[in-house]
Amino acid sequence: MVLINDNYLRLPESYLFSDIKKKVTAFKASHPEAKIISLGIGDVTRPIAPVIIEALHSAVDEMGHPETFRGYGPEQGYSFLQEKIVENDFKARGVELDTDEVFISDGAKSDIGNIGDILSVKNKIAVTDPVYPVYVDTNVMGGRAGIMEKDGQHWSDIIYIPCTSENNFVPDLPAQRPDVIYLCYPNNPTGTTLLKEELEKWVDYALENDSLILFDAAYEAFIHDENIPHSIYEIPHAKRVAIEFRSFSKTAGFTGLRCGYTVVPKSLRISDESGKRVEVNKLWNRRQTTKFNGTSYIVQRAAEAIYSPEGKKQIQESIEYYMRNARLLKNCLQNIGLQLYGGDNAPYIWVKTPNRLSSWKFFDRLLNECHIVGTPGIGFGPSGEGYFRLTAFGRYEDTVEAISRIQNWKL
Ligand code: PLP
Repeated sequence: MVLINDNYLRLPESYLFSDIKKKVTAFKASHPEAKIISLGIGDVTRPIAPVIIEALHSAVDEMGHPETFRGYGPEQGYSFLQEKIVENDFKARGVELDTDEVFISDGAKSDIGNIGDILSVKNKIAVTDPVYPVYVDTNVMGGRAGIMEKDGQHWSDIIYIPCTSENNFVPDLPAQRPDVIYLCYPNNPTGTTLLKEELEKWVDYALENDSLILFDAAYEAFIHDENIPHSIYEIPHAKRVAIEFRSFSKTAGFTGLRCGYTVVPKSLRISDESGKRVEVNKLWNRRQTTKFNGTSYIVQRAAEAIYSPEGKKQIQESIEYYMRNARLLKNCLQNIGLQLYGGDNAPYIWVKTPNRLSSWKFFDRLLNECHIVGTPGIGFGPSGEGYFRLTAFGRYEDTVEAISRIQNWKL
């Protein structure tokens, strides 16, 4: 008898986005004239910058000539891109990395999911709550986490570390020691960040407790405050305890092109069953060279163009476009008396629902009364109840229109 991986059956269905879709479809059917604005999705709306398009075109042309054609590339990525990453994303911030510590991929989501391949099923996992659901679901799939019921909902038995307005969204160190800790800063969904000293506390904890930090810096490009670290490796000794995931998706509009990278420092060592310390970089290299055949040459040339002076300027313009949306949204929501968080160094605004409205009640009212779609916080974890996520990734005109509706909203 052929058996499937039962862990997949343990996953609760991802109701969030399908429930949103159902509600929006029903609303549209009963209000065909309504112009619905979506501030719910996490996808970008700006097109790819011209300098990146140029790089794509010329890489495509190279593929058509025998002298410049490329077949399989290095599984870890081309050195032309690894070098640019090391130089611009790390050296410029005082972090020394070797190019063979950088693994190029088709995006952060794949790496975040695949990293479980090299980690034992015995590891105890911790996440901050609310959380990007991929961290939880991939651990359930990998058998490192089970499912439990709480308040009529199904959650994983992962250690959830609450991040709410009560602790100003700065996670407290866990009471129970986890082996693996996921941290995402700037955070999706709350849009909040950690200061250097706050992140340092987690690195010190991992060093003292022999824990591994999986640091997701997909929104790093949206940081503009000086005292917020862009990389966990800005914290002393973090290379001994952390893997960092980066993405070009939100930085440069690569959600459809697909490219990201993962840093696995050579000084990071974790134990095997016998307690012997193993170099994680070697294991990840083995995993990637066995199961992955590299990111396409064309896409890596496109990613390289981000680091040219013109590329940096052009992607910065898009980032500022989104952050202008964030500022406008924040001002408007504050003016109608809502309490909100994030949106300064991240493209997400985390709204506290007024009058103890549940996340879904707030969703219904925003949809019915303003024809605007957002994301109920409860969909991101138990501590997301009573909150609501809005994104700044919409078109400017739509954001302005949304604001004019919200301004006249009687909550
Ligand atoms: N990490 C976080 C926190 C995200 O929000 C997302 C996408 O929304 C990703 C990773 C995935 O990025 P990529 O498009 O590179 O797979």
